[in-house]
Amino acid sequence: MNIAIDGPAGAGKSTIAKLVADKKGFIYVDTGAMYRSIALYIIENNVDSDNDDAVKTACDNIDIKIKYVDKVQHIYLNDEDVSTAIRREEVGNMASKVATKKVVRDKLLNLQRELAASNDVIMDGRDIGTFVLPNAELKIYLTASVYTRAKRRYDQLIEKGEEPNLEKIEEDIEKRDYQDMHRDIAPLKQADDAVLLDSSDMSIEEVVDKIISLI
Ligand code: C5P
Repeated sequence: MNIAIDGPAGAGKSTIAKLVADKKGFIYVDTGAMYRSIALYIIENNVDSDNDDAVKTACDNIDIKIKYVDKVQHIYLNDEDVSTAIRREEVGNMASKVATKKVVRDKLLNLQRELAASNDVIMDGRDIGTFVLPNAELKIYLTASVYTRAKRRYDQLIEKGEEPNLEKIEEDIEKRDYQDMHRDIAPLKQADDAVLLDSSDMSIEEVVDKIISLI
């Protein structure tokens, strides 16, 4: 069985997908991590992300592998485990930028479809229900208001002992939403047959229970 969860940054897709995967014995596939790994390579190697030829050459030199350790996804960029390094804010913003490029999207498509073809997966991203897995048995579009998503991120950073700026986080989220929704290839949008869940006023447990009942 394949389940697709799409939605904007910070809607809680990964937290919820992991919990559902655990409860149902599915594999959780985080496709954002794949875009982030390419972004990390681009940052670390000072590749000009505005230059399509340079990005193409970078893609040719990138090998991405996914492995599961105790059911947790680890992602390897040219054999180095980058699962933690890709979580930086800067990497997420670069991921959104390079995800607009066809060469980048094409590179990741096969890996995503292969994982779904050989496993029961719950896969999250932006274009899973609309493009990567159009025949997924269940599609969820998970969203929440910009303020709710920014506040969740803010609270996480406070908990880590950082000193975040809520307005700046809101601006970054709005910019990323705009970029993801308005690109030419595979933009973020709700698939016609996806179930819309707005988590602004729902707890994590409520969203998980709702998805389990839909399954
Ligand atoms: O979900 P996450 O924040 O890790 O994704 C980082 C970026 O990767 C997104 O903002 C989006 O631009 C891109 N992405 C995508 N398609 C996916 C998953 C992520 O374009 N399926």
